[in-house]
Amino acid sequence: MGKIYFVDVTNRDGVQTARLGLSKLEKTMINLYMDEMGVFQSEFGFPTTKHERRYLLANLKLQEMGVLKNIRLSGWTRGLASDVEEAFRAIPTIKHLNVSSSTSDQMIQGKYRGRKTRDDVISDMTAAVDKAYELGAETVGVNCEDGSRTDLDFLIRFASEAKKHGATRLRYCDTLGYESPKSIYDTIYALATAVKMDIEIHTHGDLGLAVATSISGAMAAVDAGQDAYINTTINGVGERAGNADFLSCVLSLMKAKGIAGKYELGIPIKLERIWDAARFASYAFNVPIPINQPGVGRNCFAHASGIHADGVLKDPENYELYGYKELGRGEPITVNTGSEICAGEYSGINGFKHVVNQLNNEDANLDLALPEDRDAANRILELVRYANVESHKPLVEEELIFIIKYPEIAKELLTMTPLDY
Ligand SMILES: [Zn+2]
Repeated sequence: MGKIYFVDVTNRDGVQTARLGLSKLEKTMINLYMDEMGVFQSEFGFPTTKHERRYLLANLKLQEMGVLKNIRLSGWTRGLASDVEEAFRAIPTIKHLNVSSSTSDQMIQGKYRGRKTRDDVISDMTAAVDKAYELGAETVGVNCEDGSRTDLDFLIRFASEAKKHGATRLRYCDTLGYESPKSIYDTIYALATAVKMDIEIHTHGDLGLAVATSISGAMAAVDAGQDAYINTTINGVGERAGNADFLSCVLSLMKAKGIAGKYELGIPIKLERIWDAARFASYAFNVPIPINQPGVGRNCFAHASGIHADGVLKDPENYELYGYKELGRGEPITVNTGSEICAGEYSGINGFKHVVNQLNNEDANLDLALPEDRDAANRILELVRYANVESHKPLVEEELIFIIKYPEIAKELLTMTPLDY
C-alpha cells in the first residue's frame, strides 16, 4: 500500500508570493525546522536565480555536514533543457530537481500564444528531464502547471512520456485552486492507475479547499497503489489565497474521520516542533497567525461558553479533537518587561556577549561559546549585524545560535554580491 509524504514549498511558492519574502537565513531556518519535523523534501529555491545561488550551495553544504539530516533539497526550474543546464552551471551539487511545464489548453493558447503545441510541451519536458539526468540529477519530478484545467488524456500522455524518460514523480498542480475534493480524487485516481507513477499533489486555496483537495488527491494516489507527496507550506502562505497548510494536512491525515489509521505516513511527522516553526514563519514573513488557524491559532484550545468550558474541565476530549501538548504548546510565553539587551545591526561586542550568556542561561544544554580571540568574536558579531540588516528585524534565538555555530555558512547566506558565473 502506498504511503503519504510531505514536500514543503514554503521556500519556493511561499516566497514568490506578492508582498511576502524571507531572508536567506530565514529560508535556511525553515529548512531546519522541516528537517526536524520529518518532512521528506524541501523545494528550497530557484537554482537559475542568481541571488539564490549562495543560499542553495550553503544549504547543500549543511546537508553534507549533517546539520540538515534527512530532508531532500530540490530545486525548481521551468521544464526546459536550457533552464536545467543553467541550474547545474550555478549549482553543480544539486541532486534533485522539479521541472515545470504548463499543460492546459488555456496556458498553451493564453500564455504561449501559438509558440508551442502540446507536442512541443512534451518534447521540451522530456528534453529537460534527459538533460537533468545527464548532468547528475538523482531524481527529477515533472510538474504539470494548471493540471486541473488540462484534459485527462493529455495529462496521461504527458505523464507517460515523463515516466519513459525516468521522471520520478508527477506533480499534479491545481494552480488556480479550481479542484473540489471529488473531482481531484477522480482525476488522480485515473491518472495514477493509468500511468502507475507516484503523484505529488499541489493545490491552492482560491476556493478555500486547498487542504481538502490535497488530502483527497493523496487518498486517490494511495488507493490507486501509488505513493502520494503533498505539497504544503507553513501556515499555508503562498500565492494569492495560499497553498495547503502543512499542519492542517498532517492533522487531517492523523485525526480525520475515515482517514486516520487508514492512510499511512511515509515518515512520521514530529508535531512537537510545529508551534515553534509556525511562530517563526509568522515572524519571518511578518504575517500574523489567524486566531482560528488550525492547531496553532490562539483560540484553538480556548473555551468561553459555559457548556464548553464545563465540558473541557471535566474531560478535554469533550470539546478538543487533539491535545495542545502534541503540537508543542503549553509553555507560557514570557515577555521581558525590564532592561533588555538585544543583538542588532549596531550592537557592540559586550552587549553581544551578554546576549550569548543569556541564551546559555536559558538552556543548560546549549553550551554556546564565542571564540576567545576578540577579532574572531567580532567577526561573528559582524555576521549578526548583517543578518539584522537583511531581515530588518531582531533575530530570533535560533538564528543567533545558528550564526554562532556555523559562521562560515552564515557568511555565505549573507553574501549578496551580484555574481557572474
Ligand atoms: Zn503553487
